[in-house]
Amino acid sequence: MGTEGPAAAVPRIIAFDLDGTMWWPEMYMLTGGAPFRRDAQGAVYDSRGERVRLLHDTLEIFQQLAADPAFEDTEIAYVSRTEYPEWAVPCLKLFHVPVPDGGRSHYAHIADGARRPLTLHDMGRHSEIYPGSKLTHFRRIAKDSGVDFSDMLFFDNENWNCREVSQLGVVCVHTPRGMTNAVWREGLAKFAAARGGSAAAAVPAARGQAEGGGKGKRR
Ligand SMILES: [Mg+2]
Repeated sequence: MGTEGPAAAVPRIIAFDLDGTMWWPEMYMLTGGAPFRRDAQGAVYDSRGERVRLLHDTLEIFQQLAADPAFEDTEIAYVSRTEYPEWAVPCLKLFHVPVPDGGRSHYAHIADGARRPLTLHDMGRHSEIYPGSKLTHFRRIAKDSGVDFSDMLFFDNENWNCREVSQLGVVCVHTPRGMTNAVWREGLAKFAAARGGSAAAAVPAARGQAEGGGKGKRR
């Protein structure tokens, strides 16, 4: 699957909420929590056997982020308000991201060096996982990275997080059902449109599901 648009339209940072965006259930809903384990098929369970599942197309999207040349210079951020970072981080370490046959991972220097499979945790350059307003999370990412808010794309299943963070100029996409290929393409297209438009267009208007998310065409 190719990435639409020129390199200039690819975000410098792509940020993902965790609970309800990348996986389910939300961490606070787990009754067992740590320690987590991964079975031979790659399924992740908490200490009482409750499974944590990646939502929809999350794994495929991260495989693309790991191997597609378009994303070689893109940094990934995890931005969560969970009160259970001590559970979220182990989960990130247990989800493997196998790169499709013949593909080269941008993270080979990490996983090869560690002589183990690439994980979601390896791919996160920024990990802002703690309660509070996500304005704080994004301001820290901007300070640490030197990247402008207008060069960031953010996916979150809570609309109010999107509204809040979009005030900074981050392009935000509401993902009520979690990461699907449709919202992923919508996000990339929305970011490209914001970059291609006027400065004012970099601050997206609040809206629901955008049109044309599934056709792979940009306007
Ligand atoms: Mg969430």
